[in-house]
Amino acid sequence: MASPIRVTVWHEYRHEKKNPKVAEVYPKGMHEAIASHLRTCSDMQVATATLDEPEHGLTEQRLAATDVLTWWGHTAHKEVADEIVERVQKRVLEGMGLIVLHSGHFSKIFRKLMGTTCNLKWREAGDQAVYWITRPGHPIVEGIDDHFVLEHEEMYGEFFDIPEPMETVLISSFTGGEVFRSGVTYTRGAGRIFYFQPGHETYPSYYDKNVLKVIENGIRWAAPGKGGVPISYGNREHGWLDKA
Ligand code: ZN
Repeated sequence: MASPIRVTVWHEYRHEKKNPKVAEVYPKGMHEAIASHLRTCSDMQVATATLDEPEHGLTEQRLAATDVLTWWGHTAHKEVADEIVERVQKRVLEGMGLIVLHSGHFSKIFRKLMGTTCNLKWREAGDQAVYWITRPGHPIVEGIDDHFVLEHEEMYGEFFDIPEPMETVLISSFTGGEVFRSGVTYTRGAGRIFYFQPGHETYPSYYDKNVLKVIENGIRWAAPGKGGVPISYGNREHGWLDKA
């Protein structure tokens, strides 16, 4: 059997400690809802890391042993140390996959990798959200019908200030009529990045089978090839082919 994809589920883990409404929905934290689903995937080896751990749980060793990192943050983006953000960016450029979830759009790491404000419109009013597949057959939406519905999600609306995506895999519409590019892909260096919109902390989106399936698929899509990605730079002597 091929060696498993080493996944680290990173979570801010603050709302659950401060807001009883969130703790009721996610008693073990949002990261555990995601991780416990991923642990059912036989091709994945799953760890979690949170903001308040030393080095936010993202030590050199942990990142070196991570093929794909998932990221959820909201209220404490500023508390993520720049040194750790640079460490994560370096690993993405080397080939580590990154799945950015929901309010992670404003995380330091996503903004750094995108180079834009990543700003958007929002409304926390329990809108119904319909997610439409715009890339049928894409591995990220394998096993998903042509759309799925979340009865309640935070509205995120365009304009979403991101660079033109490599692929727009999902778009969503909300009760108010707004639309949003809800599933978008990029590469940066040798790393693959997938941003996925659902996951407001007061709604049970990370128990939804379609949401979990897309995250699971996104991890497989973003995982680097075995043995990492060979990259070489620098001066190259002319005529090297003749000597080969
Ligand atoms: Zn939210």
